[in-house]
Amino acid sequence: MPKRIETVVLHDSSTPVLGDIQKGGAVVVTSLDTLINQARANALWPLTFGLACCAIEMMSTVASRFDLARFGSEAFRATPRQADVMIIAGRLSKKMAPVLRQIYDQMPEPKWVISMGACASSGGVYNNYAIVQGADQVVPVDVYVPGCPPSPDALIYGVMKLQNKIKRQNMGITKQNALIQLTPRTLEEPA
Ligand code: SF4
Repeated sequence: MPKRIETVVLHDSSTPVLGDIQKGGAVVVTSLDTLINQARANALWPLTFGLACCAIEMMSTVASRFDLARFGSEAFRATPRQADVMIIAGRLSKKMAPVLRQIYDQMPEPKWVISMGACASSGGVYNNYAIVQGADQVVPVDVYVPGCPPSPDALIYGVMKLQNKIKRQNMGITKQNALIQLTPRTLEEPA
């Protein structure tokens, strides 16, 4: 079969002509938000941050039986600078909390957090002076995965929930900013 090469030419809104696209060729129209969100959601790179027994279940998710690679998240990174989702797997001690926060701060934006298991989410059975009673006291948590420990399936479900959340994000002008820009006072201000 002969190879067909198509050239797609970019136009602005004032020239709504689809350049060299041949009749019958495939055209996809979408928003930039959708495109970026799809790319981000389907290639989440988790940070390796196992704190206790939950981490063993987290490790299982990338093994052949559960295969987190099906959802594009098998590339666990050992450095925060290459990761965009922190999975807090296990109880978080008060001694470890500043370390967790520092590593979170070192991750580039945009970044997300999954709290895995009862201990990370609420202290679990460790209601004592040494354990942080919920990782959300230290970092903003996007998804909580319940269980002690949660099964690998449950963590994968949590990753899928996070993907859905990312796909709904709006990268463009926020409603709040839009309102600020449209207030009469702003419009009356001298140029
Ligand atoms: S939730 Fe259960 S399995 Fe996970 S760290 Fe706590 S005690 Fe261990």
